Amino acid sequence: MSCIFCKIVNGEIPSSKVYEDDKVLAFNDINPVTPYHILVIPKKHYDSIIDIPEKEMEIIAHIHNVINKIANKEGFDKKGFRIINNCGEDGGQEVKHIHYHILAGKKLPLYEAEKK
Ligand code: AMP
Ligand code: ZN
Repeated sequence: MSCIFCKIVNGEIPSSKVYEDDKVLAFNDINPVTPYHILVIPKKHYDSIIDIPEKEMEIIAHIHNVINKIANKEGFDKKGFRIINNCGEDGGQEVKHIHYHILAGKKLPLYEAEKK
């Protein structure tokens, strides 16, 4: 059974697309925490950053290039933005298909961490 983001990639689940090419898809987060909250994913499934083999790591450079394109297109390139990649249980990753959050459109707090 494919994961929820693979279903978005193959069109089984609808999404609000922001950018698409042959390797990458970007869409609006269903539960935005900032005025812009966009998820950028590789179309190929990897559980998380730790599962990407070294020889396939160029997909991450491509994702960062796509993030720059989105920032320019949406107009938050000058004001700035934050990129977040949650990895695994301690990192707070809920969807096990690697994704980068782009948060933009408001001044974000410098650092947030759950105190335990
Ligand atoms: P993470 O905690 O880093 O795994 O983040 C998963 C993100 O996926 C959350 O911000 C969710 O709101 C978002 N999300 C889950 N399902 C969907 C969906 N069908 N469409 C868009 N965003 C989703
Ligand atoms: Zn997947």
